[in-house]
Amino acid sequence: MSTLLLQHADLLVTMDAQRRQIKDGALFVRDQAIEQVGPTASLPASADTVINARGMIVLPGLVNTHHHLYQSLTRALAQDSVLFAWLKTLYPIWARLTPEAVYLGAKLGLAELMLSGCTTSSDHHYLWPHGSRIDDEIEAAGELGIRFHASRGSMSLGESQGGLPPDSVVEDEDAILADCRRAIETFHQRERFGMVRIVVAPCSPFSVTPDLMRESAALARSYGVRLHTHLAETKDEEEFCLARFGRRPVAYAEDLGWTGRDVWHAHCVHLSEAEIDLFVRTGTGAAHCPSSNMRLGSGIAPIRRLLDRGASVGLGVDGSASNDGAHLLGEARQAMLLQRVLGNPAALTAQEALELATLGGAAVLGRDDIGALAPGMAADFIGLNLNRLAYSGALHDPLAAVLFCAAGASAWTRRPGGATAPPAGESGD
Ligand code: ZN
Repeated sequence: MSTLLLQHADLLVTMDAQRRQIKDGALFVRDQAIEQVGPTASLPASADTVINARGMIVLPGLVNTHHHLYQSLTRALAQDSVLFAWLKTLYPIWARLTPEAVYLGAKLGLAELMLSGCTTSSDHHYLWPHGSRIDDEIEAAGELGIRFHASRGSMSLGESQGGLPPDSVVEDEDAILADCRRAIETFHQRERFGMVRIVVAPCSPFSVTPDLMRESAALARSYGVRLHTHLAETKDEEEFCLARFGRRPVAYAEDLGWTGRDVWHAHCVHLSEAEIDLFVRTGTGAAHCPSSNMRLGSGIAPIRRLLDRGASVGLGVDGSASNDGAHLLGEARQAMLLQRVLGNPAALTAQEALELATLGGAAVLGRDDIGALAPGMAADFIGLNLNRLAYSGALHDPLAAVLFCAAGASAWTRRPGGATAPPAGESGD
């Protein structure tokens, strides 16, 4: 049993049930779990490893609920296109992915996320050319020591059948389901503090059949794993669903069993009041991806209304071909600002934006062991050096400083699956 003591944080933001913020804060950790949280003076004075966090704000590790890591290799393409045109430009490029590219894209994208304060990420990978497998990205996540929810995504409705992707990147549905089963049986860790979890994730209404949606839901539920897809992202998708299925995307998803506490949908931009009610009533989660929604001109997701009604909402950077980066703390800032665009500067506060990136993400991924710094929770914490030019003038409120000020700050991130070393040479940037 090894112990770790973090002490003297200028401010420790717990996100616990009381939302305590502790000055001169400290954490005492035994193995993977937090044992005590409080002012430095009230905690033990020593441990196997001691971190002096003077000059830092310490936060729960951030949780990313939507990504396509392989897109880290294809940024700044189709720069001025809406989603469908953007996808049609990129599909042929992504069709050239190899196992090595999937591994490298994951390693690059996850490292970028960790530098931005992320300790748990999901990924949604939905095309598997040249023998690439979910194993390739799980290997990269394991080497970096980040908690990883790997979504075995899929596409089965090619252009010749009326879908959007070219036939060359779609798979046979039996093969998809068999590989989902293999991934769950090989990698899924359902236990508390599990480092790898598998999610079943057909890509979108315009790239898979209703049959695959139904079968995927049945398969996931037979194993007790979660379900994820893209939904209500654009008006084009809404028109596609009305034309092909005779209903809006959310009604289509509901018909196929794609609502519930074990489901979260990416984007959820175009939701009616009744559809928001359905999310709340069924406990269906939403992954908000503000940068991608702005980049592709998709619209503004009704996050304020979802939160007011009690929906479960997390934050996602989305793939790096539509962001075109993976800075999760910066994404929280984007979320805060985007809700204000329509005229209400109090539409989302700094505290609420951080909540989306921590507790909200944990809830959406179905975890009760991350997202807050409290006894019994995983010791997933990050620190940001407050001694930065960009924070000058804002240190009367350090939490507001990290959300309102510099969008690109690097965090010191404790690797959930790796040895903990004190921050070395953190100079701020
Ligand atoms: Zn996406």
